[in-house]
Formats: sequence, C-alpha cells, structure tokens
Amino acid sequence: MDAPLIDPFQRPVTYLRVSVTDRCDFRCSYCMSEDMTFLPKRQLLTLEELDTVSTAFVRLGLRKLRVTGGEPLVRRGIMTYFAAMARHLESGALDELTLTTNGSQLHRFAGELAGLGVRRVNISLDTLDEAKFARITRWGRLPQVMRGIEAAQAEGLRVKINAVALKGFNEDELFDMVEWCAARDMDLTFIEVMPMGDMGSADRIEQYWPLADLRAQLATRYRLTDLAESTGGPARYVRLEETGQKVGFITPLTHNFCESCNRVRLTCTGELYMCLGQEDRADLRPSLREPTAPPLEDAIRAAIARKPKGHDFDYSRQQVAGQMPRHMSHTGG
Ligand code: SAM
Ligand code: SF4
Repeated sequence: MDAPLIDPFQRPVTYLRVSVTDRCDFRCSYCMSEDMTFLPKRQLLTLEELDTVSTAFVRLGLRKLRVTGGEPLVRRGIMTYFAAMARHLESGALDELTLTTNGSQLHRFAGELAGLGVRRVNISLDTLDEAKFARITRWGRLPQVMRGIEAAQAEGLRVKINAVALKGFNEDELFDMVEWCAARDMDLTFIEVMPMGDMGSADRIEQYWPLADLRAQLATRYRLTDLAESTGGPARYVRLEETGQKVGFITPLTHNFCESCNRVRLTCTGELYMCLGQEDRADLRPSLREPTAPPLEDAIRAAIARKPKGHDFDYSRQQVAGQMPRHMSHTGG
C-alpha cells in the first residue's frame, strides 16, 4: 500500500461513500422534487471508472466503502461494480463493503449481495404506514420495501433502518418503529433533516424535529445507555436496555461531529466532495479520461489536502444557514 491518506487536520481518510447514480425510483419529498431532471448518462462514470477510482482509494488505505446514490440498485449492471469491490474484501484490503438503499429492489439483489461478501445494509424507511409511505416517497410502495427487508434478512444480511425524523409526520410512530425494529433484531438510526437541495427553507424549519427532543421522548419509555462507539461519522448510539437494540442519532445540525470525520464522497460524475456541507470538490474525471491530466492518485491526494475542518449548517436562528444547493441524491446520503 502507498502512504495512507491523512488530511490537514491529521484525520486519516479511510471511508469512501460512492454515489453510483443520481437516479431513483422514489421521489422522497425531503430529498427530491417531483420533476427532477437527472444527468445525461454520458456524464456518469462508467462502472469500470467507478472501479478504477475506488481501487485507487483502496491502494491509499481505504478500509470501508459504502455504495449509495440516488438509488444504487437501479443503476444497470451495478452488481458488476459490487463484484469488483468484492475482490478487495477477499484480498483483505477492504474491511467492509456496504450499501444504503431504499429497499425497493432488494428482493432481487439480496442473495447476490450476500454472496459477494456484503454483510450489512442500511435501508431507509420513515414510516410503517402504507399511505404515509406513499405520500413521503411519492412513488414508493411499502409492501415492496418490506419484501426487500425480508429478503435481506433471509440472506443473513444485518439490516439497519434509517429514518428521517420529520416533525408532524413520523413523530407519532416513534415507539412503533422502535418496537418493530426490536422485534426483527434490526438497529435503527434517526437522521435530522438536512438543508440539501432548494426545497424552500421555510419547509425545512417546519419539518425539523431535533433529535434531542426525540431522544427525550425515547427516555420516557426506555432506559438509554450511551455507547462510546463511533464510526467516525455523525452518528451517536445508545442502547435501549429494555429491548437490547441499538438506536443511533445522526445530528449534523445540533452537534458538530467534524473533528473525527474520516470520510469523503464520490459523486456519480467523478467529483470528490471532501465535506458533505461544503461546496469545494475535486473533479477526478480528467485523471480518468485525459492523458495529460495528473495521475489519479495525485489528484486524490491533492483533494484530501484540501479537506476542510467542518461544515456550516446551522438552524439556530430560525433560518437555514450554510444551505447547500445540491440534492442529497447527488452527493450520496
Ligand atoms: N436511495 C437510498 C436511500 O434512500 O437509502 C440511498 C440514497 S439517500 C440520499 C441516503 C439517505 O439520505 C436516506 O436515508 C435518506 O433518507 C437520507 N436523506 C435524503 N435527503 C435528506 C435530507 N434532506 N436530510 C436528511 N436525510 C436525507
Ligand atoms: Fe431516492 Fe433515497 Fe432520495 Fe428517497 S432518499 S428520493 S429513495 S435517493
């Protein structure tokens, strides 16, 4: 392995999230507008190019790779990319290959993913109510996602449910969701809604359900024990003593998690974002396509040397500061 990637704040970069497509078969209202225009296919990195960039990161000390999007499982041929990454699992170069998915296609791919060495999958699910699910995802259907969850568990994949905490939408389902996950031996993580994409800041503040409130509600029914573990990301975990399950809180807005950040994000067009909450990015495409451009590993090192200290999201004055114009599906959640 070459010298590992260390950023200017002495944080090792060992975790890459790869958005393999900006497309999706859902239109979750907090993530996309209904009439999204997607990128022309020719602008996307090919599966081979995704492999080349990811493999360069592995050579530079990457230990964990998460595939996301858009909806990763709607990208045609995506299993070729998973198979390519599986070779790094087999060689021991990579510790973990995972994905974040809306679950809609999981019934088709769970077996293959498990066969390739994927052990865990994050599935996004904000409500257990069919009508509410159709409303929030606009195009999604709950029974199909349930089928995907069952398929994943049947294949032995460990499932974690990710739910965006939305005021006035799923507040009333807090305990139902906790118990539903506990009954199926699934961990559960709540995410604070983030100011991504321009869907109107007024809406964002109305939707914003601070996880400190959510946690306080949980504490009315369960004993919560803080867990020290951290994945180097924005999630903090507690154990519910009564159910034994782990509940996570992703709170980029109320707490600053940047000091331990170990990750960068690759978009489906080959841009590397060194921080989810900043606009600075490095275009790696020339290094893949133009013979006169700097070699890929040099371009990656130059980008990591610019990784900022942190983000600037702030809802504290009842206005959204630090709002990012791009959608979450572009950079990958
Ligand atoms: N389509 C896949 C899925 O939904 O799991 C992967 C991509 S999605 C962008 C990744 C995660 O980002 C999902 O859990 C989704 O709920 C979350 N997300 C999307 N927009 C968000 C926002 N504005 N604030 C907080 N989380 C958001
Ligand atoms: Fe699609 Fe995931 Fe965004 Fe929902 S959150 S629209 S499933 S990319």
